[in-house]
Amino acid sequence: MRLGIFGGTFNPIHYGHLRAAEEVRYKINLDRVIFIPSGNPPLKSSELSDAAHRYAMTKLATDLNVNFVVSDIELRQTGKAYTVNTLERLFEIYAGDELFFVLGIDAFLDIPNWRQPDRLIGMIDFIILTRPGFDLKDIIKSPFISGRIKTDRIVGETITLKGGRKAIIVDIRPLDISSTEIRELAREDKSIKYILPEAVEKYIYTHNLYKS
Ligand code: ATP
Repeated sequence: MRLGIFGGTFNPIHYGHLRAAEEVRYKINLDRVIFIPSGNPPLKSSELSDAAHRYAMTKLATDLNVNFVVSDIELRQTGKAYTVNTLERLFEIYAGDELFFVLGIDAFLDIPNWRQPDRLIGMIDFIILTRPGFDLKDIIKSPFISGRIKTDRIVGETITLKGGRKAIIVDIRPLDISSTEIRELAREDKSIKYILPEAVEKYIYTHNLYKS
């Protein structure tokens, strides 16, 4: 099977995530998209809801889509889960399947700050998504692009990364939604309706999330 690995804090999950996962699924012919909510870091900021809440909201949001799966792989880990280690474990679990690491252009450009970025870039093929507020042209600033690329023509293209892996650039319907904005709205008692699934909205109110 062709599997998309879609990691995030999902604090909370919103329609930007869900639509991106759905578009990438049918545009790249993935059989499944596996959502991987991050675990609790050792020093958790008050901004970050407990991993159990973020996992529960991700489950609620994806329940009705048979092509979406939520993994608790990073939640079950004691200590900080690093993407390189998560991927190693996923390669074991899904041995025989073809895995793609799905992430927005903002997250891709942040990879140099992740653990063992050079190793990560050589481990798996990537699917890089457009995202409102972030310029795809900034991809040339990534230290992981191999050779010269024409930034005006990369949407829909496959580029080569240092180490030989590929990255497919996918144009996603622009939904200018971020979890940060949703947390701010909730904190200020403003409506968060229609930017995330209703079940997630209810969960946030029931558990009094994002209030402090
Ligand atoms: P925060 O505002 O808390 O930083 P976020 O909305 O960016 O959160 P994350 O959970 O950090 O959400 O994102 C997980 C992945 O989803 C990242 O790869 C990110 O680029 C992508 N993503 C998030 N929102 C969108 C969106 N509106 N459109 C496309 N991709 C998105």
